[in-house]
Amino acid sequence: MNSGKILSGKKVAEEIRAEAARDVAELAGSGVRPQLDVVLVGDDPASKVYVGSKARACDRLGMASNTHRLPEDVAQARVLDLVHALNADPEVDGILVQLPLPGSLDTHRILDAVDPAKDVDGFHPTNVGLLQQGRPRLVPCTPLGIMELLRREGIGVEGRRAVVVGRSDIVGKPMAMLLLHAHATVTLCHSRTRDLASVTRQAEILIVAAGRRALIGPDHVAEGAVVIDVGMHRLTTEDEVESLFPGDEERRRRFADKGSVLTGDVDFVRVLPRAARITPVPGGVGPLTIAKLMANTVAAARWRRGV
Ligand code: NAD
Repeated sequence: MNSGKILSGKKVAEEIRAEAARDVAELAGSGVRPQLDVVLVGDDPASKVYVGSKARACDRLGMASNTHRLPEDVAQARVLDLVHALNADPEVDGILVQLPLPGSLDTHRILDAVDPAKDVDGFHPTNVGLLQQGRPRLVPCTPLGIMELLRREGIGVEGRRAVVVGRSDIVGKPMAMLLLHAHATVTLCHSRTRDLASVTRQAEILIVAAGRRALIGPDHVAEGAVVIDVGMHRLTTEDEVESLFPGDEERRRRFADKGSVLTGDVDFVRVLPRAARITPVPGGVGPLTIAKLMANTVAAARWRRGV
């Protein structure tokens, strides 16, 4: 593997975490300990894993965290009561409602109930609007982490052609907005985009968040492009691993150990020769997201408490 090309999200995430830890230590001097409260509804196994890693990340940085577990069949009013109680609690700096919520609940209504000053995911309409107007306050963690990766790796954005694949509220749209404010020329693609490859080939910076395994192959990528892969998928058969990572002994060992390995929306092995820089999965965008959640919680604590 050409390791000079690999953009390590892990390394940048460590830097972000180290800075957050310094901030936490400094806040402790003013008697403030940033606190993140997570609302987890139901038993979705992936959500449980994510919530567990967020709590551990808080712990490691010396931040406080609570997870509020509610049953799958909880009434909407009970979730709203909990959110209102967290809004009113002066010790709570960040509130995160783990998505997806069960289909019986109205996700928008619940996210809209979170105090925008504690909305560390940046999903509240107030924070979305502030981002759109170019005066961001709390911004979704994944696109924020990607901007930080580009900045710290010296990848200039200004004046360059950036293409984002995927228009979700969580990744695609805020990503496009951040790139636009950083003066890129931005194209946003989605499932109805015609001839996707002809659009993505225009990209000097290509960011893929479509949730489709190996959607982006070498024909989608211009020679010398920077490729950021947000997708996350589990390969659960040996054939799948061999078709995407032929002859990759290390990945095969990992698969034998764990019964699955992760991959992204980009066909990494086949795109690698064309890309100037590329993020791997795992070890790319994933670690940045949690690191930025920590940074957002510290920032929310500072703003709200005026320290
Ligand atoms: P989503 O499912 O909400 O949205 C997917 C978007 O991709 C949609 O806008 C859709 O129009 C577009 N799309 C789907 N198929 C397409 C196609 N064939 N061509 C072009 N566009 C297409 O997804 P999301 O929540 O933004 O997540 C996307 C992926 O990123 C998922 O794999 C998710 O697991 C992963 N993710 C990873 C992190 C992380 O921290 N690493 C964070 C969030 C999401």
